[in-house]
Amino acid sequence: MIKIKNLHKSFTKLEVLRGIDLEIKKGEVVAVIGPSGTGKSTLLRCINYLEVPDKGEIEIEDLKINTKNVTKEQIHRLRKVTSMVFQNYNLFKNKTAIQNIFEPLIVVKKMDYKKAEKIALDILEKVGLLDKKDIYPSKLSGGQQQRIGIGRAMAVSPKIMLFDEPTSALDPELVGEVLDVIRGLAKNHTTMIIVTHEMRFAKEVADRVIFMDGGNIVEQGSPDEIFNNPKNERTIEFLKQVK
Ligand code: ADP
Ligand code: MG
Repeated sequence: MIKIKNLHKSFTKLEVLRGIDLEIKKGEVVAVIGPSGTGKSTLLRCINYLEVPDKGEIEIEDLKINTKNVTKEQIHRLRKVTSMVFQNYNLFKNKTAIQNIFEPLIVVKKMDYKKAEKIALDILEKVGLLDKKDIYPSKLSGGQQQRIGIGRAMAVSPKIMLFDEPTSALDPELVGEVLDVIRGLAKNHTTMIIVTHEMRFAKEVADRVIFMDGGNIVEQGSPDEIFNNPKNERTIEFLKQVK
C-alpha cells in the first residue's frame, strides 16, 4: 500500500538519505531505530513533504509521486493521507485541547464545525482526555499534550501515521500513557512508522523493525530477528550501546 523508492535528501553537502527503499503493508507497524543524526526524522519529514526530497518516489495507494514532476495538488493530497506526531507535540498554544484536534478537520478537510466537533470528542475519549477538552496546552502535562498531538494526527483518518520519537521529550513517568495510546492504535491495525529509542516498546509493538545508519536502511526484520539475532555488525554494535 505504501512504497518509497530510492529516496534521496541532502542538506547542502551533507547527504542524509542515500536511497531509501521501503514498502509498508496496510495495517503494518514499522519501528525505525538507529543512532542519532542518521536521517530517521528526515525520512519521516520527506514522506509527508515537510522536507522536499531531492529524488525518489512515494506511493500511497493510488497517489503516486515522483519528485521529478510533483504537483502542488499531489503534495496537498499526500499531506491529507499522512500525519505526523512530533517529538515536541507542536500544539497550537492559543487553542484548547479539542480545538487542536478539530483544527485540521476544518482547515485541511473543510469539514463543518458540528461534524468536526463530534469526531474530536470521540478522539478525546480514545486518548482518555475528554475531561480536558477545554484546557489549553500550557495547563496539560507533557504526556497529556502528546496524547492530544496523537489525537490531532488521528483526526484526519490518515492512511499512515508517522511518529518521530513521540516519547523522547517526556519525563519517564509520563512515557507509559503515551505508549498506551500508540499500542491502542497498533491493536486497531493503524498503519504506522514509529521512530523510537524505546527498544522494548519497538520489540513489543512492531511487526517489523528497521535499523538505519548513515542514511541507509542497514538491516530489517521481525523484532525477534533484529533484537535477538541481528546479522549486521552495525546493528549489533548499536544494540549493545542502547541495552
Ligand atoms: P535523526 O532523526 O536520525 O537523528 P535527522 O534526520 O534529524 O537524524 O538528521 C540527519 C542529519 O541531517 C543530521 O546531521 C542533521 O544535523 C541534518 N539535518 C537535519 N535537518 C536539517 C536541516 N533542516 N538543515 C540542515 N541539516 C539538517
Ligand atoms: Mg530525529
